[in-house]
Amino acid sequence: MRIFDPHIHMTSRTTDDYQAMYDAGVRALVEPSFWLGQPRTSPASFFDYFDALLGWEPFRAAQYGIAHHCTLALNPKEANDPRCVPVLDALPRYLVKDSVVAVGEIGYDSMTPAEDTALAAQLQLAADHELPALVHTPHRDKLAGLHRTLDVIRESHLSPERVLLDHLNETTVKDALDSGCWAGFSIYPDTKMDEDRMIAILRIHGTERILVNSAADWGRSDPLKTRKVGDAMLAAGFGDDDVDQVLWRNPVAFYGQSGRLQLGVAAPDPLHEGNSILRGGE
Ligand SMILES: [Zn+2]
Repeated sequence: MRIFDPHIHMTSRTTDDYQAMYDAGVRALVEPSFWLGQPRTSPASFFDYFDALLGWEPFRAAQYGIAHHCTLALNPKEANDPRCVPVLDALPRYLVKDSVVAVGEIGYDSMTPAEDTALAAQLQLAADHELPALVHTPHRDKLAGLHRTLDVIRESHLSPERVLLDHLNETTVKDALDSGCWAGFSIYPDTKMDEDRMIAILRIHGTERILVNSAADWGRSDPLKTRKVGDAMLAAGFGDDDVDQVLWRNPVAFYGQSGRLQLGVAAPDPLHEGNSILRGGE
């Protein structure tokens, strides 16, 4: 089983996770920029983080045979902090980098006017850079949040087939697919979506334009949830081709719209700017 995890925060994960993901079949992933779990206090903190997503993290992934790409943005939560908003002005110089395959994650957290402004501005940045967009839908008031998100997308210059709506569930899947956008589902250990509910959604809505991710980060999460969905699909009677479409071909087709996916992993360099993942010298 070949797996592309289209949304995972590897910065928060260990090298053991990389090994386990490779062993489970993960060969490519996309790491969206997001918040740290505590507020950043200046744009400089974002820039160091963006540089890590462009340099150190792909280097780490390559040690385990996994192709690493990222999406960059001012995340919805920190769009509300005036100290962080100047990040929007600096994004254009990051969005031209080779391994940036979308603008994201953007969208709504608490649906504030500041979030409206940041979402619209970053959809425009995606259009200007001919990149797709990864749009997070809120965890609270999901359907109202989705509708407000779709209104802003319709008013943007980005066409729906270039938008991936993420963190969907049973209440939002139909309207998301009807909009023409791609539909992403984050599978968590014991909250929100799980494997069985994902199977039920795939039975009703099929496998077109549907992506599954682990959204693993520093919180309670599981970087092998993509594989677990693949296994659950097979156990539920889906074929190998269905699994391959959801876990590989759909994310490749979506992020491939950037023109920047590089799925082959070259033999890794032993050092990144003089540093290795080995400790104590070897
Ligand atoms: Zn995320």
